[in-house]
Amino acid sequence: MPLDHTVGSITVTALVDGVGPFFQPREEAFPDATAGQWAEADRRDPDTVGPDGRWRLPFRCFALRAGDGPVTLVDAGIGPADAPAASWAPVPGRLPAELAAAGIDPADVRTVVLTHLHSDHVGWAGPLFPNAEHLLQRAELDALALFHPELPARLVGPLRAAGRLRVLDGDTDLTPGVRVLSTPGHTPGHQSVLVDSGEDRLLVTGDLLVHAVQLVDPGLAYAHEVDPATARESRTELLRAVAARGPAVLATPHLGVPFTILPAG
Ligand SMILES: [Zn+2]
Repeated sequence: MPLDHTVGSITVTALVDGVGPFFQPREEAFPDATAGQWAEADRRDPDTVGPDGRWRLPFRCFALRAGDGPVTLVDAGIGPADAPAASWAPVPGRLPAELAAAGIDPADVRTVVLTHLHSDHVGWAGPLFPNAEHLLQRAELDALALFHPELPARLVGPLRAAGRLRVLDGDTDLTPGVRVLSTPGHTPGHQSVLVDSGEDRLLVTGDLLVHAVQLVDPGLAYAHEVDPATARESRTELLRAVAARGPAVLATPHLGVPFTILPAG
């Protein structure tokens, strides 16, 4: 059963599209992490390290909904058997079944926020959500050549032709209490989503944060960031700004549990 977390009037539901091993040793993915930092990361998030010491990660999306109103989905998972992520991720994903288990009809999804264009975040975008506008930062679309070669013909072109692509320039309010935040660095136009009820706050990080070792030290670079210095600045600044207002919740695609407390700081 998908897990929920409620922020004010908005229910945030975690949807697991798949779980599988990462394609390289985690020590190569985070070359600067020390043995002590790995030990602390594994203590905080024991489910993402296998008995062989390999990184084993879930691939999650999050649904945001007030009551039985329209649904906003953040990210679209690894996708079906023939998705661009097929070369490395455990396709086919199970998002359609997860949505059904959560009582969400894909036709009720009106907005899909794609945090970025990596193949494990766009798999079900487009056809599964016929009534949804898909939101991307302009900087991400301007860098389309960085991503899977099928994306223009398979996703971006059809969305644009159907009038279902909405291009954002930086931070943007979506609905009351839901705001898209520009968090570049992992990719040129990476974005995250902040759900803010005034009292409670939840940040859907996207790949601003991919592993608990980056909670141990948010300054740690990840080898697959297009601009590690900018990614580090986005991560440290946003986590600091969110924590400055009190404890908050992080909703992450790849940590072992979907919701992690960010202590006040
Ligand atoms: Zn990812």
